[in-house]
Order: sequence, then C-alpha cells, then structure tokens
Amino acid sequence: MDCPRCTVEMAEIPGDDGTMHRCSDCGGLWVEPADLNRILLHANLPALSAIGGWANPEEMTGQCPACHVDLVVVEGGEKRSLAYDTCESCGGSWVDGPDVDEVPEAQTWKEAEKEIVSFFKDFRKK
Ligand SMILES: [Zn+2]
Ligand SMILES: [Zn+2]
Repeated sequence: MDCPRCTVEMAEIPGDDGTMHRCSDCGGLWVEPADLNRILLHANLPALSAIGGWANPEEMTGQCPACHVDLVVVEGGEKRSLAYDTCESCGGSWVDGPDVDEVPEAQTWKEAEKEIVSFFKDFRKK
C-alpha cells in the first residue's frame, strides 16, 4: 500500500486483530475503520462516525491507498486546526504524522494506537 501523500510504500504495523500502515517518509498513519473504531472505543471515545468534525470538500488531498478514490478532508479541534482524511468508499482513515523531523522507524501497534487516541482527543476539543 502506498502513502496517499508521498506515494512510497508504507510499512506494516501488525497488531492482534489487524494491520496499520505507516509512511516512513511523512510519518502518517493509515487505519482501517474496524481497527480505528476498536481503538477509539477502547479509549472511551465515540466511534469515528460520532466523533464530529466538518468535511471540507474544497480541500484537495491524496487518494485512498486501497481504493484509489479521492479522500475527504475532515476538520476539527480547536479553531479547526486539525484534520484527518477519510475514504468514503472503504472507510479507511489517514492521520498525518507528528510534526517532527525524525519519524520514528520502529513503531509498535501500541505506540501507533497512543498517537491515534491523542489525535482524536484533541480533535474533539471545540
Ligand atoms: Zn508519506
Ligand atoms: Zn478506500
């Protein structure tokens, strides 16, 4: 699977029930809807469909690495400062990497899960 931003092959992060993908170039994470919802519920957050945010059809972004249709940008957080991308076809989601120069190479499911939870906690702040 290629990164929707950089079109380089993403690394797999295997978990007990699924696989996440991380781009070693930009650090972004690709998560399947079942995995994402499991992670959110586990952290006492609502499922993605209930988490809120505003779809911004003006914003151009990449294509779904699985279905190759254009992703939709959903904005949220304080002053809509955060955004994630989602595929309306497969429901997969893309979360941009942390703003650091060095993207951590070795990533465990636990670490990626923590990153996703903290992103969506901020995303729900108004
Ligand atoms: Zn990338
Ligand atoms: Zn898709």
